[in-house]
Amino acid sequence: MRKEYLMTPGPTPVPSEVLLAQAKPMIHHRAPVYGEAMVKALEDLKYVFQTKNDVLMFTSSGTGGMESAVVNLFSSGDKVLVAVTGNFGERWVKISNTYGLNVVKLEYDWGQKVDPNDIASALEKEKDIKGILITHSETSTGVVNDVEEIGKIVAATPAVLVVDAISGIGACELKTDDWKCDVVIAGSQKALMIPPGLAFASVSEKAWKLVDDSNLPKFYFDYKTSRNALKKTPPQTPYTPAVSTIIGMGEALKMIKEEGLEHVLKRHQLLGNACRAGIKALGLELFGEEDQRANSVTAIKSPEGINGQDVVKIMREEYGMTIAGGQSKVKGKIFRIGHCGYYDKFDIVAVLACLEMVLKSLGYPVQLGKGVAAATAVLEKAM
Ligand SMILES: *Cc1c(COP(=O)(O)O)cnc(C)c1O
Repeated sequence: MRKEYLMTPGPTPVPSEVLLAQAKPMIHHRAPVYGEAMVKALEDLKYVFQTKNDVLMFTSSGTGGMESAVVNLFSSGDKVLVAVTGNFGERWVKISNTYGLNVVKLEYDWGQKVDPNDIASALEKEKDIKGILITHSETSTGVVNDVEEIGKIVAATPAVLVVDAISGIGACELKTDDWKCDVVIAGSQKALMIPPGLAFASVSEKAWKLVDDSNLPKFYFDYKTSRNALKKTPPQTPYTPAVSTIIGMGEALKMIKEEGLEHVLKRHQLLGNACRAGIKALGLELFGEEDQRANSVTAIKSPEGINGQDVVKIMREEYGMTIAGGQSKVKGKIFRIGHCGYYDKFDIVAVLACLEMVLKSLGYPVQLGKGVAAATAVLEKAM
């Protein structure tokens, strides 16, 4: 036999508690027993989002959640400012273009983070910007943007702040209400420890006002339809949801609550620190800005003469260790280790041990155990 390890920034491993909860007999999505489970899960989700706002849920991948924000908040021709620091910022641009929005692109090199001053200047110059679309943890580069600072700037204007926190929520701090985020999008399959298939959107009062005026076409992702269904007796979704996944979600959020969000975030910080220490000890370079690294994923530059795709392929095929390659323009140039969600200390040790062996086989000079030693030194200090 061969044991498989999944260390990508989504999908992520699902705890057995969650898998077992999902294996229970099917229940009906209009029955009170479903309504109760869904309401409880959405309440617990507010705790993770750190919000008092309604959190809506859709059976779709995270990108569906992003699309839901665009179609519900804006009208054709509306001007939006999109900050692009990687692949997922680009996705905001693509969705906005699809719906005929007037996109002002604030573009950075991949690996850089958004300079909040640039947002302030853009809003100063173009008073008709209706929304700012940003990425919290930019999964393609391993960098986390300063949502708090951007939130302060946007809150002082009539525009709304829309945050893609799909890989960030539950791994990197994000205070939806305190940081004045109007719409926050999350997905089930990253730090929330749930299988793929659910998207979430928290919606502020300021954002609901835009929803009232929006004229973009929408049906499945209509926020008003979704909110109305939640108010029914029993509470429900307008169309058949991924019932089993939502039952699993209840279990995953129970685990997060039991550990405590503060500890969950600290654990991610520790794992991020250990992983980065191990990588540096191997003489490898991290990708992206030093002071703002995400604790959800570690992006590593492929060493001279080695294609990152080969590292990923050999780790998976020879060792059963799945990590992620670089996306789009950094394909081959970087590889990424995901550690958001159901991860603990020895997952980091395992992935580093595997990486050492694979790099060695590719001719990179490695002293086996050097990365592992640096990581365990970080972990030991925290115990
Ligand atoms: C994973 C991810 C998405 C896309 O999610 P899908 O579920 O694949 O649609 C969007 N944004 C970020 C930051 C992500 O990490």
